[in-house]
Amino acid sequence: MSLNPSPESSDILELPVMEKFYTIQGEGAHTGTPAYFIRIGGCDVGCVWCDVKESWDASAHAMFSIEDLSIEAKMSGCDMVVVTGGEPAMYNLNSLTEKLNKLGLNTHIETSGAHPITEKWHWICLSPKKFKPTLTSEYKKADELKVVIYNKHDFEWAETHAAKVRKDCQLFLQPEWSRADKVTPLIIDYVKDNPQWRISLQTHKYMDIP
Ligand code: SF4
Repeated sequence: MSLNPSPESSDILELPVMEKFYTIQGEGAHTGTPAYFIRIGGCDVGCVWCDVKESWDASAHAMFSIEDLSIEAKMSGCDMVVVTGGEPAMYNLNSLTEKLNKLGLNTHIETSGAHPITEKWHWICLSPKKFKPTLTSEYKKADELKVVIYNKHDFEWAETHAAKVRKDCQLFLQPEWSRADKVTPLIIDYVKDNPQWRISLQTHKYMDIP
């Protein structure tokens, strides 16, 4: 669990939100866990294979107050909120995490680490992207490193990130969805040879849920 040093308080009272929904976390360390997702609009990373390109333009998304977002999350009935994007670390999310924490919710973030993650989180999933580098300062904050594998050269790239995270950080390799047929067998072999890694599948896509 990561509880980072208490950041300066923020006066952000509303955020652009592309979508928010109650579902099952499909990927990574908390696969299969009920979770309320908040997908924040805005991303400056620009992955060519991004499956949520409609999130990139923050101005295309309606603003929601921190208060309303938090209460809606609480009303879902689960105790885990996943803040994703877009690239959520583009924003100072102190107000959001403070409010969610006050309501007794566990706060998770999924980020490329291309911006400082200064807020207080219960779980930080770091997913580095080739299109905008992860800040060196952010690696040690990660509870989970999730590297998307697009081709066979990405294993070496994944190891460069694994060398920078904490020893207790959980390591996951995840096939890029459109290439899953080709790269999943490679990942299986790689994880068998390198058992410090585990496989993350986008199980929500197999279950046809958001
Ligand atoms: Fe898409 Fe995420 Fe990459 Fe942004 S960081 S371009 S939202 S995959």
